[in-house]
Order: sequence, then structure tokens, then C-alpha cells
Amino acid sequence: MVNYKDLGLVNTREMFKRAVAGGYAIPAFNFNTMEQMQAIVQAAVETKSPVIMQVSKGARNYANATILRYMAEGAVAYAKELGCAHPEIVLHLDHGDSFELCKDCIDMGFSSVMYDGSSLPYEENIRISRQVVEYAHKFDVTVECELGVLAGVEDEVAAEESHYTKPEEVIDFATRTGCDSLAISIGTSHGAYKFKPEQCTRDPKTGKLVPPPLAFDVLHEIEEKLPGFPIVLHGSSSVPQDEVDTINKYGGNLPDAVGIPEEQLRLASKSAVCKINIDSDSRLAMTAAIRKYLAEHPDHFDPRQYLKPARENMKKMYIHKIVNVLGSDGKLAQ
Ligand SMILES: [Zn+2]
Repeated sequence: MVNYKDLGLVNTREMFKRAVAGGYAIPAFNFNTMEQMQAIVQAAVETKSPVIMQVSKGARNYANATILRYMAEGAVAYAKELGCAHPEIVLHLDHGDSFELCKDCIDMGFSSVMYDGSSLPYEENIRISRQVVEYAHKFDVTVECELGVLAGVEDEVAAEESHYTKPEEVIDFATRTGCDSLAISIGTSHGAYKFKPEQCTRDPKTGKLVPPPLAFDVLHEIEEKLPGFPIVLHGSSSVPQDEVDTINKYGGNLPDAVGIPEEQLRLASKSAVCKINIDSDSRLAMTAAIRKYLAEHPDHFDPRQYLKPARENMKKMYIHKIVNVLGSDGKLAQ
């Protein structure tokens, strides 16, 4: 049994309280590799932002749960080495799909877990969410739960159709589960193909897809029911079109990849939305830089040569999100 406090990590409680009150959101970046971890920490330190480093079940399968835990511990030490005396880094389980998985992460030093029972019947979702919360709170670990279904594919989480969160359920759900934050569905979606072309309009000038707007009316209704309660948005990559263009220019094939416009995320950040999950944008930034580098240097084969610009490109993207979209820069407690 390892407690996250011994690793220098923090839970989400205080940072969410400040984010809701201050009208900004904390970035939650997924990671599987050392380069992603380094880029996240560098970006957070340079912008003086709290940050949530999250690990999905797929990341655990890819990188190994133990290694990821030590990487998070290393992230804290690295942030200090970069000059941040009191980094606020959360190690969070993204989309835990069972009590056992959540317990396993809590026992190995995670400071926050998500239990995602959104695909289960309502009462079953409440029952297991409550079980996770009871266990987590014994160790002061915070818990995110989910109501409503997001479309799209993220690792092993896949759903054909989305169902918006029903505002009339949120008070009952939050009260009976005791969760610390609530992930809702208001039209965001997992992956780099968030919308089918028929759900979008097309920009006549660029030919690019323009996605449908988020359901801010649902968000506002939820905020009215649960004033000040931390709300989480999943599937909130913007799928930057310059990265998609670079990938396609250098041999990739991502036609009609489309994300959530950053202006909408910026607007959401100013509400009770206090955690915004970004995964695909990091994948795109990494892949675009690697494709470009390898195309331009066909004789290079040292991974450090192409992973260095990939890391730089991800860092640039993380800083942009923190400063220009979520507004969490300069928001460390001390
Ligand atoms: Zn998600």
C-alpha cells in the first residue's frame, strides 16, 4: 500500500475548488510515454499551472501500471528540479471500469480515480460509484464519476451514440454516490473523429468540417442544480487542423478528423467545468512532428532525433491549452 502523499502528489479537491471559484479549468492530459510526461511537466512548470496526469486502462496495458506510477513520482521530482518548489500534480485513473481497478490504483499511489459506470443502469452506476468513493475517501483520494454517455472511441471505451446527461438526475446521483466531481455528456466525444460529416457543416472556404456546438443549455441546467460542484468534460481535444494537415502532408491519412472548437472549451472553462480532458491533441502533435521529421531526414534512425521535436511540439500544445484555452496558468496555490 502506497499513499500518494508520500509520492508528493495531491488530490483534486483544493485545485477544483479554486478553479470553480476562479472561472478556469485544470488540464487533464493523458500520458503513456516518457516524452509525454516530460512535456506535460515542462509545460506545467513554465506556466505555473496545476496539472492532472491521467492514465487509462489502455495506458496501463501499454506501459505497465508500476512504471506509470513511478513516472508520476518522477514527474514531481522533475518539476522540483525545474524550479517549481510546490508542484501540484495529480495522478488520476481515467475511465476505471471496476471497483477492483480503482482500488488497485488507489493502493499503488494514485491521488484521484474515475469510476465510469455511465454505460450501466442508473442504480448500478450509483452502487459501484458509492463503493469506490467509500474506499477512496479512506485514503483522501478524490473520485470522479460519470452520468451520460459520450460517443467515440478512447482506448477500450467505445460507444456508438451519445446521450446527454439528464440534469434532473444529477442531484440524486452526486448526493448518493458522494463523488467529488462529475463527468457529464454535453456533446464532446472521444478520439480524433468526434463527429460524422453528416453531423457537421462544411466551411465553404477551407472544405473543413465545422462541428455542432456543445449543449451549453444542459451544462447551465446542471450548474443550477449543483451550484459550485466540479464538472468534468471528457473528449475535449480540438484536433488542431494544422497538425492534421502536417500528418496528411507527410504520408498520413486522417480525412475529416474534427474536434471541439477551442472557443467553446474556453467558454466552458469559465463555468463550473473545472477539468478538461485532452488526449488526442497530444497524439496528433507527436505524430505530426515525427512524420515530418522522418520525411525530411530519411537517413536518420536514432529515436532521440525524432522524439525530441515530438516532445517540443507536445509541450507547445500543452502550453497553448493551459494559457489560451483553460486559463490555469499562474494558478498554483503557492
Ligand atoms: Zn474520457
